[in-house]
Amino acid sequence: MKIFTISSLVSVMALSLSCAAPTNDKKNTESIIPKNIIMIVGDGMGPAYTTAYRYFNDDPNTEIVEETVFDRNLVGMSSTYPAKVSGYVTDSAASATALSSGIKTYNSAIGVDVNEKPVETVLEWAKIQGKKTAVVVTSQINHATPASYLSHNKSRRNYNEIADSYIDNGIKADLYFGGGWDYFIREDRDLVAQFKQKGFHYIDDYSTLDKLPKNQPILGLFAKQGLPAALDDDNKHRLSALTKAATAQLENINGYFMLVEASQIDWGGHGNDIAASMAEMDDLAKTMEFLEQYVQLHPDTLVVLTADHSTGGFTIGANGEYAWRPEVLKTMKNSTEFIAKQFVNIEVTKKSASELLNFTLTDQEVLQLQKEKVNANEALISFEALSNAEQSKMRKPNVARIIRNTILHMIDKRTNTGWTSSGHTAVDVPVFAFGKESARFNGKLDNTEIAKKIFTLLGKK
Ligand code: MG
Ligand code: ZN
Repeated sequence: MKIFTISSLVSVMALSLSCAAPTNDKKNTESIIPKNIIMIVGDGMGPAYTTAYRYFNDDPNTEIVEETVFDRNLVGMSSTYPAKVSGYVTDSAASATALSSGIKTYNSAIGVDVNEKPVETVLEWAKIQGKKTAVVVTSQINHATPASYLSHNKSRRNYNEIADSYIDNGIKADLYFGGGWDYFIREDRDLVAQFKQKGFHYIDDYSTLDKLPKNQPILGLFAKQGLPAALDDDNKHRLSALTKAATAQLENINGYFMLVEASQIDWGGHGNDIAASMAEMDDLAKTMEFLEQYVQLHPDTLVVLTADHSTGGFTIGANGEYAWRPEVLKTMKNSTEFIAKQFVNIEVTKKSASELLNFTLTDQEVLQLQKEKVNANEALISFEALSNAEQSKMRKPNVARIIRNTILHMIDKRTNTGWTSSGHTAVDVPVFAFGKESARFNGKLDNTEIAKKIFTLLGKK
């Protein structure tokens, strides 16, 4: 009899309570291996985001607050702190490396440890086990989270090197969905052409997602960098559409490991843009609802969702007022970024502003917007009158950005949303799991334990 670790002994004991005692070790190991493992990261999705989504999603005509897909699949919490050298507040690279490899590392490390030495990832191991592998993200596919499953680099900022490694270090996935033309089709190198040479079918828009050639690896790049924000995209539920297409494409006798990332919840958080983050959360919720149905049909699949960290220090209610009013967030049809760019060229009136934001502005809000636009334009005119030497000492006023900030403050005031940071915060993040062996993720975990459990479920000793 082999020597058991305490945790495997506990799980064997738990197993023998629920079913007949295993006859031998090998059979026991096989029985716990889910055929398919879908790991999902909501980038920046701290607990306030999943909670806020409940109120965003609430039907105000009913007495109850409706349960969300997050509520019914919550199993625990995870700590996210990086290696000691980076303190307590993690970035996406260190946290994704913890989730992909089971080790703590420094902020900005991609699949390497504190000594910059490559560490094996669950995706790489799954591939070696004969499973198909995939990444489906709304950022560029060489952004920190997917890169930490596919690559090894001392810095997340080495975007071209990371993209190159997807070919040069051996192709590790059978399907890639996300953005990234800027990095994969460059003057010095056409990585898309190289993927095609290696037998990949390439698509660059969503129109052929339901007509992918069977038994062929797929590269789908849909934008220069990240995909358009959910609020601005032709398909506001593009992550769920991509995930659905990927599951259909990946099914095979040996199963698959897929990383899905709702990358832009974090981008909304950095921008202190609650409308953007809630739209991304809605796309993630649709993705999770699809996967609930998928697991019903494929019960040998495990789905685990967590966040790498929280972003923005987002609070549901602010400034001493006991209220959060998400109503205007539900009706917005474009991002604040898109709307602000429109206002650069069109006159700000009550009519134009109410049309673009899709709610009726107060006279005071319209006045505020008009005033900020005038101030921004004046600042730009005075900047342009300066000499080159003087200009080089300061930042060029960005009219769209100034207008956007005014809109963001207006929305925060209307919804009573609070923010404490433009960066990450170190609160523990929620963990959600369902499907085969999902009970292993119950309770308080550290992000490194999530990778370790997945390695175990992929048969690693
Ligand atoms: Mg209700
Ligand atoms: Zn971030």
